[in-house]
Amino acid sequence: MFRTRSRLADGREIIYFDDRRGRVPVPDPRDLPAVEPRCESRRDPLTGEWVTITAHRNTRTFLPPADQCPLCPGGPASEIPDPGYEVVSFENRFPSFSARTPVPARSAGSARPEGSASRGVLDAVDGHELFPRMPGTGRCEVVCFTDDHDATLARLPLSRVRLVIEAWAERTSALSAMPEVEQVFVFENRGVEIGVTLHHPHGQIYGYPFVTPRTARMLERASAHRDATGGELFGDVLAAERAAGSRIVRAGEHWTVFVPAAARWPVEAHVMPHRHVPDLAGLTEDERDELAVLYRDLLRRCDALYGAPLPYVAGWHQAPVGEGRDLLRLHLQLFSIRRAPDKIKYLAGSESGMGAWINDVPPERVAERLRAAG
Ligand SMILES: [Zn+2]
Repeated sequence: MFRTRSRLADGREIIYFDDRRGRVPVPDPRDLPAVEPRCESRRDPLTGEWVTITAHRNTRTFLPPADQCPLCPGGPASEIPDPGYEVVSFENRFPSFSARTPVPARSAGSARPEGSASRGVLDAVDGHELFPRMPGTGRCEVVCFTDDHDATLARLPLSRVRLVIEAWAERTSALSAMPEVEQVFVFENRGVEIGVTLHHPHGQIYGYPFVTPRTARMLERASAHRDATGGELFGDVLAAERAAGSRIVRAGEHWTVFVPAAARWPVEAHVMPHRHVPDLAGLTEDERDELAVLYRDLLRRCDALYGAPLPYVAGWHQAPVGEGRDLLRLHLQLFSIRRAPDKIKYLAGSESGMGAWINDVPPERVAERLRAAG
């Protein structure tokens, strides 16, 4: 894998990933104003969770016509100046978190926000201590999987899927090294039903300045499990799933694909390594090779379920940068809101209001259908 760094017209970083050596980046010809993100995270006093407010993102590009796609290479509206590329990652022009967010000077008495990156400077909304607030520092990148506007990750050659995995791992390392970042989330949203605003095959990477609520909860559970049993929660779950077998979709030498016993979504699958690895950067060459095969296979099974491209979210759960690296095992969670060819599951009162999930589709049945779709 060869990596080439460059800068866009407004100073944002862009990184090309190629299988072959020799890329010479084309300068960005645009006249772009400097990025001025205003990201702010406020802690909900009732749940302790950070909520991020990004007023500048309301003007972002929304479903442009194909000839104005910002992810197609080399066009006048393109974010990627080169006339062609394999895999490329660049700083999002409309970020939810950005190290460019102005950070006020730390005053002598200011505390480090609980559960947040050390650069965060804590003040409070209305000056009230119940409403802690910090700048939404961090990093958001867009990762393009191909320069072909009409392709899908599921239909790309294996070598390209492998290169995407290599880019994910490299960006996980790079963002983890940023002082603003506490946790790196690599994910893909696919389909307008999921809320995708650009059709070009791409994913995103968020470097959060805090540990996310789901990760914090998993760390608590893994810690309690270790105290109670001495065992490693993710390894024990994987062993139990493999022993039961009824929810296994496919297993390899290094990875297992399964539908979790308490799946929340009408279609949900997890892809978990057999070894304890905290993040994508920690995977061996052999593990990356097999992941490319199994992940592409899972995406193809998903598209075969209803005979049409499945709208999905696929996200990599990774251990935070600075804690719980022995507790949280890397795994992929893929889910879809499609519960029938013409039916979408909306997050209604119980899920949205209470966080209590009701799933109409038995996980064992989903696993059976995903096995049959291979
Ligand atoms: Zn495009």
